[in-house]
Amino acid sequence: MNTSLIYLDYAATTPVDPQVAEVMARHLTREGTFANPASRSHMAGWMAEQAVEGARRQVSDLIGADPREIVWTSGATEADNLALTGYMRANRARGRHLVTSAIEHKAVLDTAAMLEQEGFEVTRLTPRADGRIDPADLQAALRPDTVLVSLMAVNNELGSINDITALGRVVRDHGAAFHVDAAQAAGRLELDMAEQPIDLLSLSGHKVYGPKGIGALHVRRGIRLEALIHGGGHERGMRSGTLATHQIVGMGQAFALAADAIEQDRRHAEAMRKRLLSSLSDQDGIHINGDGNVSVPNILSLGFDGVDGEALLMALRDVAVSTGSACNSASVDPSYVLTEIGLPRERALASLRFSFGRFTTPEEIDRAGEALQQALASLRQPTSA
Ligand SMILES: *Cc1c(COP(=O)(O)O)cnc(C)c1O
Repeated sequence: MNTSLIYLDYAATTPVDPQVAEVMARHLTREGTFANPASRSHMAGWMAEQAVEGARRQVSDLIGADPREIVWTSGATEADNLALTGYMRANRARGRHLVTSAIEHKAVLDTAAMLEQEGFEVTRLTPRADGRIDPADLQAALRPDTVLVSLMAVNNELGSINDITALGRVVRDHGAAFHVDAAQAAGRLELDMAEQPIDLLSLSGHKVYGPKGIGALHVRRGIRLEALIHGGGHERGMRSGTLATHQIVGMGQAFALAADAIEQDRRHAEAMRKRLLSSLSDQDGIHINGDGNVSVPNILSLGFDGVDGEALLMALRDVAVSTGSACNSASVDPSYVLTEIGLPRERALASLRFSFGRFTTPEEIDRAGEALQQALASLRQPTSA
């Protein structure tokens, strides 16, 4: 990577930890554990199966689950698709109402929209200004025919943390199932499937220093899903296809590292966040979007008065950050997450998401802070008439 580039986009993806890359490399070539984990007739297959099952334990350990409840997928997008579509279709006879929120990841929102086309009904809850869903609002949205509620643990743009336990209790008391997208929560918050009222939980490898293209869905025992991908009946019939051994051991190793580093990673992110904010403390017109007191420290969404977000992004050429806005042929749409928490369009367009990680250094933060000060100074300069 360009060494002058300061990477502050860890919420989009993380680099693979060197220890993870090393384990993956040992599961690819002829000398390594490359065989098909479903090959039952020889030693090479058993070894691959053992590697996959070891990784299943590493992933389930981080979330306090039973390894038998983990279904490998190609990522959190597929896990979200399988959870929503698989559950709604399998439980169609019991009801056809799904409750979710307006600031979920597109993997949930677009799947919900597809389900509406299939004849299911969807209610999208509006979050509070801090980006969290009020359990009372959830309670009010439940209907006798509500079978599934899908809410994220941590929002990928704001870092806002939902009170998943309180929300899950509301769902449990109603007798519906609860799906949680935890792609941004794994390795950052304590998750405990043994204690928390969660039935389905989506995970991604590449948000936690693992490889892209691998994820998992935790499916609590007794939960019935209709498969989306049909084939050899792998993963208890819920997700067919030859298991990607190297991706799976990579995700396992990444989750094992995350379990050891969760506290250290959190403290580091807190320090980086504080450092960036204090480097900007003498600047006027900078706002934190959402509420920093109920957010993970590794995601910081900032709004800047008097500048255009795209122009600011251009001026910050050496800092990799994200806007959350979507470019269309005709115009730029502001982030739907920021507008749904009530920010005016203008402010949403003038916002950037900074996200920190394990490899972020204080020097990078200082350079990013300086670059930001310079960019703001030049963009806010009154143009001479
Ligand atoms: C990244 C992300 C996803 C998608 O995960 P992939 O593994 O890239 O498919 C889903 N939900 C949230 C909240 C995410 O941050």
